[in-house]
Amino acid sequence: MHPNDEVLVAIALGDEVAQGDAEHVRGCAECGATVTELAGLIARVPAAGDIDLVEPPAEVWTRIAAEVAQQPGEVSSVAQPDLPAAADGRWSRRAWLLGAAAAGVAVGVAGAQLLPRLAQPQPTVLMRTSLDTLDTQQPGGQATLIAQGQSLQLALNVTPLDPGGGFLEVWLINIDLKRMVSIGVLPAGVTQQGFAVSGDLVDAGYRIVDISRELLDDRPEHSGDSLLRGTLV
Ligand SMILES: [Zn+2]
Repeated sequence: MHPNDEVLVAIALGDEVAQGDAEHVRGCAECGATVTELAGLIARVPAAGDIDLVEPPAEVWTRIAAEVAQQPGEVSSVAQPDLPAAADGRWSRRAWLLGAAAAGVAVGVAGAQLLPRLAQPQPTVLMRTSLDTLDTQQPGGQATLIAQGQSLQLALNVTPLDPGGGFLEVWLINIDLKRMVSIGVLPAGVTQQGFAVSGDLVDAGYRIVDISRELLDDRPEHSGDSLLRGTLV
């Protein structure tokens, strides 16, 4: 009987395993190939200790499965393995390799492309809101506050808006309804656009997303002509 993935990972990591398992792997072409592939993956993983991943393994796992599904000729659907969760919420290199072993992900090119990308900070949705017309509350799109690494972005996805004779300006209005800041211009005809925002602003209560129609005039303040609005929660 082939040893389980955990044992194969241990061998690939150079850990001590039961003598019977070690002997089996030495004499088994299949297990030997798996260990070789896992060792190849280890070589590509940043050397020092564990990969600094803070997201839940399940989420990572979904991405691995998705990536694998995109590889022609690879497994198209894989079950999520039962991965051990590290105590500090980080995902250990061992868990990584277990996932790879269970999926059969440990294949040359896929692994080489996969690991660096998975080690990148992935976007996390912090808040979101629907954007509706102010007068009739018709849905007009969504705004999503996304954190990626150290940066924060407000991503808009809206129905095409008519700037009239002017332009479309995107605002964050404070929930006290007394203060607002402009975070940029939404080009005419653009329905998806991201705007860099600061976390301090959001923390200070600037959570109402507002898209207004502005004229090319000498009044930099909000025109009062809001097309869409929603409050991030
Ligand atoms: Zn075997």
